[in-house]
Amino acid sequence: MQVNILTNADLHCHSDVSDGTLSPEDLAVRAKANGVELWALTDHDELGGQHRAIAAAAGQGLPYLTGTEISVTFAGLTVHIVGLGVDPDDARLQAGLQATRGGREGRAREMAKQLAGVGIKGAFEGALQYVGNPDLISRTHFARFLVESQVCSSTHEVFRNYLTEGKPGFVPHRWAALGDAVSWITGAGGVAVLAHPARYRVTPTEEYALFSEFKAHGGLGVEVVTGSHSAAEYVKYGEMAQEFELYASRGSDFHSPQESHTDLGALPNLSGALRPVWEALTHRVIQPH
Ligand code: AMP
Ligand code: MN
Ligand code: MN
Ligand code: MN
Repeated sequence: MQVNILTNADLHCHSDVSDGTLSPEDLAVRAKANGVELWALTDHDELGGQHRAIAAAAGQGLPYLTGTEISVTFAGLTVHIVGLGVDPDDARLQAGLQATRGGREGRAREMAKQLAGVGIKGAFEGALQYVGNPDLISRTHFARFLVESQVCSSTHEVFRNYLTEGKPGFVPHRWAALGDAVSWITGAGGVAVLAHPARYRVTPTEEYALFSEFKAHGGLGVEVVTGSHSAAEYVKYGEMAQEFELYASRGSDFHSPQESHTDLGALPNLSGALRPVWEALTHRVIQPH
């Protein structure tokens, strides 16, 4: 298959191996049905769904890139780095991800304690009901529990009122270092992509520092067209990609048919002025036969 700027590439989404609600197999079917031509599953801090996604993509006749989304702490801020085209069996990447996942259970217990303090009981056990992978309890699982128990009417409302900085249920956490995350990805044969940059609450100076350090560590791409960006942000981060000479990526960040605004593959194309990250990854694409 020939890839170019018009390829319907969706290089960011989540299965129930992290905080999505669909299995890797169901995502592959949905991606194909939605017209996706190149797909990557990028579970948070996990490669556990990769071999299933590879098999499921092949079953759908869908070209596939391996992926993960690593949680990073940079200058006191949580940022996400997507790794594409990584070897899912790379020992150093796997060890790094395992260490990154490690603190999640303790953090979740602490979150539940805070929520109990504002009258929401049983949140740890409640969140666990939604967890597909016991190693990967996330804020999303708490959000689903708070919606199900009618504390809030949507997961977005949960994040607005709980679980975010300054709100009850927010527990600061130290994730991987930026340089480590990029180096694990690169060492596993992949390309590191700065995920949804508009989501970080940073000053222009901090944003410049993030892009510069990401690039200095060997980061090669940035998400421009994502489910997390507005049309104005497609333009702004397209310009940032050009300024920092980064490849541009495209991905829905799809988590769930009930919760996600952007479905798999349902995104505008990248501007023709950009270099799509999949052109740097043609040798890593797993072609169905
Ligand atoms: P965690 O890795 O446990 O901190 O959880 C982060 C996840 O929470 C993200 O990957 C999103 O899936 C979800 N999330 C964060 N902020 C929001 C928000 N405002 N609305 C909905 N989901 C969110
Ligand atoms: Mn998520
Ligand atoms: Mn993210
Ligand atoms: Mn994501």
